Amino acid sequence: MKQVLANDFRRQWLETRDDVLEAVETVGASGWYILGNEVEAFEKSLAEYCNADFAVGCANGLDALEISLRAAGLEPGDKVLTTPLTAFATTLAILRAGGCPVFVDVDKQGLLDMERAEAALAKHSDIRFIMPVHLYGFLVDIERLRLLSEQYGVTVIEDAAQAINANERGNSIGGAGLAACISFYPTKNLGAMGDGGAIITHDSDFAKSCRQLRDYGQVGKYQHSVYGMNSRLDELQAAILSKAFLPRLEAWSARRTQIAKTYLKGISNPLLHVLAPELSAKPAWHLFPVLVLNGKRDAFLEDMKTQGVQCNVHYPRLVTEQGLWSKIQRSPEAYDPLTEARNFAENEVSLPIHPQMTDDEASYVIQTVNEWTEQ
Ligand SMILES: *Cc1c(COP(=O)(O)O)cnc(C)c1O
Repeated sequence: MKQVLANDFRRQWLETRDDVLEAVETVGASGWYILGNEVEAFEKSLAEYCNADFAVGCANGLDALEISLRAAGLEPGDKVLTTPLTAFATTLAILRAGGCPVFVDVDKQGLLDMERAEAALAKHSDIRFIMPVHLYGFLVDIERLRLLSEQYGVTVIEDAAQAINANERGNSIGGAGLAACISFYPTKNLGAMGDGGAIITHDSDFAKSCRQLRDYGQVGKYQHSVYGMNSRLDELQAAILSKAFLPRLEAWSARRTQIAKTYLKGISNPLLHVLAPELSAKPAWHLFPVLVLNGKRDAFLEDMKTQGVQCNVHYPRLVTEQGLWSKIQRSPEAYDPLTEARNFAENEVSLPIHPQMTDDEASYVIQTVNEWTEQ
């Protein structure tokens, strides 16, 4: 039977093997494994790729978010407006930094609802930060975020873990405010061969604080005056990203877009709602989300599994419905009715989309999806 994987790391290895081995050779021969030339070079290329002035590598996306909040001056108890429909890491970073998440509902694309966000900011003048998530690789309205940031004096830190090359009307990640955080978790659009993350920014003082926080809070050698952590990007991962993966990102993104376009054109099952982006948008197509209508998601997932189409759900449970949430101190503002977010949690399915997918596999997914009926 045909099997279409959600990600295909074996094929990625076949494609990138020579360059990865060369990267490993370079680092091995250098005899320098932590915070050296490779991290520096990768940070430079990444900043350039993202049109940012600085990039700071760290151990993973979660840490990138936490470090950013702390470097931006978050004080314990500060309120951070965010979305309940995301990887738990978004909320975890806020909690770990000492912040207090305030959730507002999402819009029809599954992204932080800008009208509701503005209403919350207008109502609660003590909200100091916004952490929007460019979910599925769809860009949250960057211009609107910038305006909110100016109007309400809030600091924007974007969770761009899923959206490294998303673009809309010339806007891309990192354009909304102080910083954007990227994850190199292997399934992400730019994945490492292990964990990794980065912060991009235009602010040099902020970048400097991030560098201190990721390295034990050292402000100079053996001088510790801030409460730091150990969250460095390895030389090995940096070299692999620089030499093998970042140079392929444009082509990989183009391939994702191609598959998404094929899906948008081909999927016609009326029992599914396809989240079509606006015409001006160039999503990163980290995922290809659809909503299964009439509460039939389980049946749909079961059928896809039987037919060998590997699907996922992003995300089956809102942050506010997680076990940890009931154990922590919540602000009363966190109770916006999360109707649309719940709709996504109950009905969303992510179809396979990755750069190594063949045309045949994409056609098979379309055919399987279109043939599905509720019976
Ligand atoms: C993957 C992801 C993270 C966390 O990144 P890690 O590198 O796994 O720590 C945070 N937010 C979102 C939206 C993600 O998709």
